[in-house]
Amino acid sequence: MDDVVIVGAGPVGLMLAGELALAGVRPLVLDKRPEPSELPRANGVIGQAVDLLEQRGLLKGARRPPRFPFGPVPLPLARLDVPLRTVVIQQPRLERLLAGRAAELGAEIRRGREVRSLTQDEQGVTLHVAGERPVRAGFAVGCDGGRSLVREQAGIGFPGTTDDEVLRLGHFRGRPKLGGLARGWNEFPGGRVLLTSLRPGVHIVAVREKGGPGEKGGAVTVGDLRAALRRVTGRDLPLGEPIWLTATVAQARLAERYRAGRVFLAGDAAHLFPAGGSALNVGLVDAAELAARLAAHLAGASARVLDAYEAERRPQAERTLAHTRAQRALERLSGEEGAALRDLLGEVFAHPGPARHLAALLHGSTGPYTPPDAPARRRRRWPALRASRA
Ligand SMILES: Cc1cc2nc3c(=O)[nH]c(=O)nc-3n(C[C@H](O)[C@H](O)[C@H](O)COP(=O)(O)OP(=O)(O)OC[C@H]3O[C@@H](n4cnc5c(N)ncnc54)[C@H](O)[C@@H]3O)c2cc1C
Repeated sequence: MDDVVIVGAGPVGLMLAGELALAGVRPLVLDKRPEPSELPRANGVIGQAVDLLEQRGLLKGARRPPRFPFGPVPLPLARLDVPLRTVVIQQPRLERLLAGRAAELGAEIRRGREVRSLTQDEQGVTLHVAGERPVRAGFAVGCDGGRSLVREQAGIGFPGTTDDEVLRLGHFRGRPKLGGLARGWNEFPGGRVLLTSLRPGVHIVAVREKGGPGEKGGAVTVGDLRAALRRVTGRDLPLGEPIWLTATVAQARLAERYRAGRVFLAGDAAHLFPAGGSALNVGLVDAAELAARLAAHLAGASARVLDAYEAERRPQAERTLAHTRAQRALERLSGEEGAALRDLLGEVFAHPGPARHLAALLHGSTGPYTPPDAPARRRRRWPALRASRA
């Protein structure tokens, strides 16, 4: 019987595997994909996850950004002493780093293994894997993304909302042809168009518009994106050679519980945020926190150490849900009223107090709610990082 089985070799499952292995527990990771994902989803990591990855020697090049987007309103951070730092790294590269480290430390990663169901009793969890003998473990962790089977099998609800807008997005080779549009977001009565570039030689075109009934996102063709551009802007834009295309529908959801007996949730399986940038920050820190607690329990600490995982991490996801919902609301407000609110907030954010507060929220260091200027003893400590310094 394994001590811990992790379902999902995405960034959160791999981080958890590496952290457990670092603490002396050798986990088994099962993922249904035969190969690691090459989808360029996240373009970087922010906040506490940067501090964590840096401490583990996994990332270099963190920097304090001069400004950071709070939804559509830039947060000016230059000359402010804030903890928020960012690292630009494509998600597939991050996953390769995490997988390499987990394997080096002794974690076993089995790909092409789809978990179909799980049951638990007082001694452990049994995972039924397609075409294989069942796997038995002391604990199971669902790091299996937003549509988590582990969450569903554990009977944990995932309440929240699904946006009525769809974002169609493409990465293209070459320089963007602006076709009379501005870089950044362009607003039209029927939607918004983003033209931007995050690395030399690659440009991004995104179209946000009202989705059809039951729209869930997924695969998109160049023709779909071109048609969406035409609907929203009324013109044809040259797109270049496509690298990757997708459609996403934002969701705001939080698992009712992070634990059901011997089953835990972490990452997107536990929370989905409706605005970009924060998901990996919260998910990777979930993984570090849970690893420290599982390892402590397996080394003899009482079961109370496991309860503290949810007490520690769920409030952080609640705070992140609140500020990403606020960002999404700011994005959605259209017309002159929306523009006036964004302009006014831009003025407010230019003041150090509000900018520091939002930077601490984005960093993830405020916990449920601790003002950023609170004395150090009131700030939350982080067992996983404390353990690593020992
Ligand atoms: C277009 C786009 C852009 C994004 N940009 C950012 C960004 O800039 N910053 C940011 O922080 N986040 C961003 N995100 C979100 C980020 O990609 C996710 O938060 C992150 O991938 C979540 O990691 P995870 O490990 O929890 O889940 P996932 O990455 O979804 O991994 C889940 C894994 O579980 C496996 N799995 C699922 N079901 C089973 C099963 N039954 N059996 C076995 N294996 C299973 C899957 O194959 C997968 O490998 C973006 C997402 C998208 C779509």
